[in-house]
Amino acid sequence: MSNAVSLSRHDEIGVITVDNPPVNAISHAVRSGIVEKLAEANNDDSIKAIVLNCAGRTFIAGADITEFGKPIAEPGLNAVVNALENSSKLVVAALHGTALGGGLEVALGCHYRIAVPSAKVGLPEVKLGLLPGAGGTQRLPRLIGIAPALAMIVSGNPVPASIACDQRTIDRLASGDLLADAIEYTRDLLSSRAPLRKISEMDTDEAEVDEDFYDQFRASIAKKARGYFAPEQIIKAVQAANLPFEQGLARERELFIECMQSPESAAQRYLFFAERHASKIPDIPRDTPVREIKKIAVIGAGTMGGGIAMNFTNIGIPVKVVEVNAEAIERGLAQVRKNYARGVKKGRMTEEQLEQMMNLYTPVTDYDDLNDVDLVIEAVFENMDLKKEIFRKLDRVCKPGAILATNTSTLDVDEIAAVTERPDDVIGLHFFSPANIMRLLEIVRGEQTSKEVLNTCIKLAKKIKKVGVVSGVCDGFIGNRMLEGYGRETGLMLLEGASIEQIDKVIFDFGMPMGPLTMNDLAGIDVGAKIRVERRAAGRMPDDERFGLIADKLVEQGRLGQKTSAGFYKYEPGSRAPTPDLAVGAMIREEAARLGIEQRDISDEEIVSRCIYPLINEGARILQEGIALRASDIDIVWTNGYGFPPYRGGPMFYADTVGIKKVYDTICHFRNTLDDRFGYWEPAPLLEKLARTGKTFAEY
Ligand code: NAD
Repeated sequence: MSNAVSLSRHDEIGVITVDNPPVNAISHAVRSGIVEKLAEANNDDSIKAIVLNCAGRTFIAGADITEFGKPIAEPGLNAVVNALENSSKLVVAALHGTALGGGLEVALGCHYRIAVPSAKVGLPEVKLGLLPGAGGTQRLPRLIGIAPALAMIVSGNPVPASIACDQRTIDRLASGDLLADAIEYTRDLLSSRAPLRKISEMDTDEAEVDEDFYDQFRASIAKKARGYFAPEQIIKAVQAANLPFEQGLARERELFIECMQSPESAAQRYLFFAERHASKIPDIPRDTPVREIKKIAVIGAGTMGGGIAMNFTNIGIPVKVVEVNAEAIERGLAQVRKNYARGVKKGRMTEEQLEQMMNLYTPVTDYDDLNDVDLVIEAVFENMDLKKEIFRKLDRVCKPGAILATNTSTLDVDEIAAVTERPDDVIGLHFFSPANIMRLLEIVRGEQTSKEVLNTCIKLAKKIKKVGVVSGVCDGFIGNRMLEGYGRETGLMLLEGASIEQIDKVIFDFGMPMGPLTMNDLAGIDVGAKIRVERRAAGRMPDDERFGLIADKLVEQGRLGQKTSAGFYKYEPGSRAPTPDLAVGAMIREEAARLGIEQRDISDEEIVSRCIYPLINEGARILQEGIALRASDIDIVWTNGYGFPPYRGGPMFYADTVGIKKVYDTICHFRNTLDDRFGYWEPAPLLEKLARTGKTFAEY
């Protein structure tokens, strides 16, 4: 018998303790242990009431992920919750750490709840495309009301104990030792003859919500929930809390199973595991040393440098900032302050905390002052000579063991490393803009980057709350390399007859946050144009006049996007709402005629394939070359860095759902029917192989 759950006696109070490290996941041993110890306590005449608590750092933090996808061994979670609720003796849950998902559902099965002030409660199932399936959608609305329950379940975000107490999810906050307070609280309840409060026997208050409450709620989440399956299921489940409890529970079950079987949830669960895998590198054993990072420096405090620095000051790591002159530093730090001030305005931090953050920055003009930092991140202009010059200087002044990182988007990390005497300490840390917000960090492993340095950066990514994905060195690394085809085909389809609005609508409906042309207008069309100029000069682009032609023409006309109130669309001054501009359509037709391109109707389906399949094809090459270690790493890059809809799992997972053979056949069809002089539609050998052998990217 497992000893994950034990029963001890504190005079007349029986204490059931779950001890299933690291997070007391509600595994089979825990479920059966609770049921067994509860029965024992109920059969013991010396016990008058029961406290359910957990050892270690948290109350039950959720499901046991190793049980995911397997048949559930009895007793299931519902049986545990029911057993607690139907206990003949009063049960109090004592919460600390995070009571999430099944953990909170267990607590809701208890008659009362006490928590330490630092505890958090939540039902995060929505994040995996699911809903709480052990009565959570039925009990929470009965306990705290429909509106707050719905908001909590649909957001999936944990709620701090103090708020949960105001909302009545928690009955009391502990002021001292949790177990002692819980026992005392239980004694108070006993002596006041408090009833065994069974939430299932409460009713929701229908009068609490207006007739159009649910429609208003739907409208309020429409933007965030677009494309996801679970939020609407949750709404339906919470609506069913008006039914008699057993009926509501049956409805919850039905809706849960539909979620479980939905492709959206499959994709979201896949991404959950993909993220956990991303930090595991086959040739980096667990015991690889990690260097301590206590002080860092950022070279260049422009768009990226300032945001990068904030990730570190946020966790209390001081940052030295190097710029070309005092004004540039001032400008950079003023931007950082402005970003933090936004946090103050939103109530996320106090003025005092802002000042504490700002005190962590030290402007530096002399490179010799960098002799004590553990990590330097260079984020100056994208220019190889400049970067080399900086790395030579860093090599000279930095202490042995300092990690020298570059935030370059396109340059060869190995070439940069080669100018130093310590290429094994050099690595790429490719942040995404805005660097203080975007979760993705591509960790670029150079030819000579040491395992220790790589391991340190993987661990560091977690510390600064990024999802780190390791990429090999190549042009554009994983994300930007794949992006090229997406942009290229968008431009070609414009010449071939698709309208700007059609492409944008189709791609938006596919699930991207915005269409590629709206995106271009937002980012500035000149940004891509500049990159093309450099790439052409460096011979890194095909000699194809059509490639980026329309965007380049717009730049020539001074139409740089939103910032000039004109780009692919036109904008009222100061407005971000795009309006179609007939002049652009005419210009595109003119260019098509000049190049002898016959315009035609392009179907929505073709637009999706032509934008998304190049990602898959390039992804296959990236995988085969070993630039990415797994298809799931590519999917993490695209869902976290480029807005690929998580409910589609990322481009590679999407390819598996569409069917590799279909993707491959379509790519061949484009190669054979479009003007493919430049070999854009040459299928990647790996794609061809998977299509031939009937395998998926997940199996590769
Ligand atoms: P930026 O022009 O906004 O900032 C560059 C900063 O570097 C400027 O403030 C400049 O004064 C400073 N600088 C120039 N020479 C310097 C020197 N010798 N010493 C110290 N500082 C110097 O550029 P950015 O957009 O922040 O890009 C920086 C790097 O990050 C580039 O390599 C770029 O490719 C990469 N990157 C940019 C983005 C993005 O979206 N902007 C995303 C990922 C990576």
